[in-house]
Amino acid sequence: MSELTRKASYEFNKLQKRLRREVGQAIADFNMIEHGDKVMVCLSGGKDSYTLLDILLALRASAPVHFDIVAVNLDQKQPGFPEHVLPTYLDSIDVPYEVIEEDTYSIVKRVVPEGKTTCALCSRLRRGILYGYAQRHGVTKIALGHHRDDMLETFFLNLFYGGKLKSMPPKLVSDDGKNIVIRPLAYSREKDIARYAEAKAFPIIPCNLCGSQENLQRKVVKQMMQDWDKKFPGRIETMFRALQNVVPSHLVDRELFDFAALVADGVANEDGDRAFDKESFRDPEPDQDDVIPSSGRLNIVQL
Ligand code: SF4
Repeated sequence: MSELTRKASYEFNKLQKRLRREVGQAIADFNMIEHGDKVMVCLSGGKDSYTLLDILLALRASAPVHFDIVAVNLDQKQPGFPEHVLPTYLDSIDVPYEVIEEDTYSIVKRVVPEGKTTCALCSRLRRGILYGYAQRHGVTKIALGHHRDDMLETFFLNLFYGGKLKSMPPKLVSDDGKNIVIRPLAYSREKDIARYAEAKAFPIIPCNLCGSQENLQRKVVKQMMQDWDKKFPGRIETMFRALQNVVPSHLVDRELFDFAALVADGVANEDGDRAFDKESFRDPEPDQDDVIPSSGRLNIVQL
């Protein structure tokens, strides 16, 4: 083995271990998968869902609990969708799967006026079909391939355009109230997933077959985060930690914290709020595996 190959193989093993560790941690932290679960992995043909399936299969082999996995793809009949790609791949790794064929593409084209964005209707239809499948087939958890960067992007979209402090949860009850949705890649970085997918040579299906453009606001936020990541190493990690360290008494939501009932109890608290002093921060450490930023709290700092 050449030095270069040895190095590449070492790097890949490290990456694989990290992704498995992060997914295992997310599953444990949020009690995502329990004994006897039937987990439906929604496979779009993109890097994220391939990685999710791959990692979950590996973890299942050594998991202390038994659970089943079924991979499900929805073929929405977009022109040029390469129908054989996913079945060939899934046969090759010997995993139970289902390709649901529903021509939502024609519905969307018929209903949405020319020039208007089609994603809202398209996603609604897709969601309904996948929820319905889960219900009919005894699925207990629906696993999606969203990762840490998707969660942060959603947080900023809500902050900038939605007027809400809200991200994408790692685990939730679906809007129809009937399904539990999980995001086991919640702790994983998009760039790790991209490297992993490339190393594993997953047969990626392009995501622009419908001809729709990516949402402009999401694009702007994505670019902003990529720029930050280059200019301020460690910032992304700090921001994600902030999502895990919310301080309701230091926001302005009266539903979240009962400001009206506040009383001074006369007990000094070393870690209490100093009120008159402005908080100060130091730069986070560069993007490393185990980076522990100086402060991960959701304090609004100068962006
Ligand atoms: S990009 Fe295309 S396939 Fe994806 S949600 Fe939008 S319309 Fe649907």
